[in-house]
Amino acid sequence: MSIINIVNGKTKVYGLIGYPISHTLSPIIHNSIGNLMKNNMVYLPFEVSPEGLKKAIQGAYELNIKGLNVTVPHKQKVIPFLSKVEGYAKQIGAVNTLKWSKDGYIGYNTDAEGLLISLKENNISIKDKSILIIGAGGAARATSMMIASQSPKEIVIANRTLEKAEKLAKDVSLFYNIPVKSISLDTIDKNMYFDLCFQTTSVGMTPKEDESPIKNDDFFNQIKIAVDLIYTPSETLFLKKARKAGCKTLNGFGMLFYQAARAYEIWNETVIPKEALEQLFRKIKNELEF
Ligand code: NAP
Repeated sequence: MSIINIVNGKTKVYGLIGYPISHTLSPIIHNSIGNLMKNNMVYLPFEVSPEGLKKAIQGAYELNIKGLNVTVPHKQKVIPFLSKVEGYAKQIGAVNTLKWSKDGYIGYNTDAEGLLISLKENNISIKDKSILIIGAGGAARATSMMIASQSPKEIVIANRTLEKAEKLAKDVSLFYNIPVKSISLDTIDKNMYFDLCFQTTSVGMTPKEDESPIKNDDFFNQIKIAVDLIYTPSETLFLKKARKAGCKTLNGFGMLFYQAARAYEIWNETVIPKEALEQLFRKIKNELEF
């Protein structure tokens, strides 16, 4: 390809805002999807401090940046600067995707959809299953709302800070008529059994790879499938212990990839052909060794 065709006057700009941002894999995923779809676009990381968030959004809008992803710590704080919020984002109370519109940026949350697609790709279903969610932060909110929408038998939310688990359980009950309980992380009982356990805390993430929110190894005999939202390392201590106990395991890379794909589809009002997307997923997963 000649250099004239790489970036030119018609190139659309997209990006990610977060703080810090240097660890991100989103530019690799989005620019690869852009190439796949032969889209004249570029996706860049933008480090935006909490103090600079409002100005960054206003500036990005004026610069005609067509779409932004939003990561820690801006997912909730950015909402006042948007024209409206759509879909799961309303229930979750956080956005990860902004789409330019003539009235301002519209906010979406594709984390929940990304996780759901990743589960489906791995033949993991939620319907009539008993679910344990460890954590009650932003990722747990996206996970809980998505799971509640898929008719599980019950959801138990276990968090270090009980009040946050209670608040999340209450919020889920506002939207979905399913049994939701909250407990403190250290009171997971040895008589509790779950079909699926979602680890949504940041415990075990690089560089603290020798940590796990679950200290008791017997716990892994009480669950059948373990999903960790963390993707660095590709196998957390939590997943390693689950695998050794005979559980099916899944890391967070699929969620990351498919939330990006959904953001791309929203920005470009398109559907990425499924087979080509799956092929790209396998290619990036292999190259990055996830
Ligand atoms: P967050 O809002 O800051 O929530 C952090 C959660 O971790 C809270 O529940 C917190 O409990 C818990 N926690 C932190 N340190 C703990 C410790 N030492 N022991 C027990 N619990 C602890 O963060 P987040 O946005 O939800 O992100 C959480 C993780 O999900 C991160 O690793 C992130 O990379 C991952 N994530 C992955 C994807 C993906 O696409 N795969 C998407 C989003 C997030 P307290 O309430 O008690 O503080």
